[in-house]
Amino acid sequence: MFKYIQAKSLISKTKNPAGWFGNEFNMNIYRGCTHGCIYCDSRSKCYHVENFDEIHVKENALKIIEKELASKKYTGVVGTGAMSDPYNVCEKKLMLTRGALKLLDKFKFGVGICTKGIMVKRDKDILSKISAHSPVTICMTITAANDAVSKVIEPNAPLSSARFEAVRELNEAGIYTGILMMPLLMDITDSPANINGLIDRAHETNVPFIYPAFGLSMRDGNREYLYKNLDEKFPGLRVKYQQCYGSSYICNIPEAKSRKNLFMKKCNAAGIKYGMGEIIEGAQQRVKNKQTSFWGN
Ligand code: SF4
Repeated sequence: MFKYIQAKSLISKTKNPAGWFGNEFNMNIYRGCTHGCIYCDSRSKCYHVENFDEIHVKENALKIIEKELASKKYTGVVGTGAMSDPYNVCEKKLMLTRGALKLLDKFKFGVGICTKGIMVKRDKDILSKISAHSPVTICMTITAANDAVSKVIEPNAPLSSARFEAVRELNEAGIYTGILMMPLLMDITDSPANINGLIDRAHETNVPFIYPAFGLSMRDGNREYLYKNLDEKFPGLRVKYQQCYGSSYICNIPEAKSRKNLFMKKCNAAGIKYGMGEIIEGAQQRVKNKQTSFWGN
């Protein structure tokens, strides 16, 4: 299920922190993923991950992370979750993501995590420590309100209901945790019923933010994988996708504008943030609040 590889470097600088949860650095301890999401962009050929369903574990990750964090001239938020799920099935035994979080705490860096793994709950203790000095943002990806649908499109990931429960538990522990509602798939998860259902559930769960995308991305590699899955699980839908999207990279759902309006209206009514700027500000504000209460001002 996994193989070890050696890494030369782990932490890279990002180009636009304001565009993605304030992440100033990126870190990927794992490559490849066993969750099997039918739309996974990380399968794209441009990333050169051979046999994506086998997890490549950077065996020397913690040594390199420690060295790289120690040598940084300034601290910042380190994002993880781009090329694999940092809470994939290997993490339970290997605990490399947990080890990296301990290092981020030691060197006073913040963290931004994107995951579908409910194992993130295990690390509440360290996330809480990091929250005391730096921004922490956890993004739980949930794209289907209905568990039966999530089982079909994200077959090996925890069910949507379990992810919502993890979100609840993290927020109750004071960890800033919201939802990534992306991608939305034409004729599968783009209905008003699904979007309303996700927002309703998020509201019940006291979620502070939802960040959406009204469509998906397709490139060589992930396009073929999606189409193979559409043929198996949604017979006939591939033709509609091909006619609608051709070889486009950005593939918005046909009703993107009206769905976005619906989404914004409902989030506004529920007091849920959805703009990237306000989401980042929310994470920064929490640190300020904690520090203010610590000093008793
Ligand atoms: S969890 Fe993320 S990396 Fe893993 S298969 Fe799903 S989309 Fe891809």
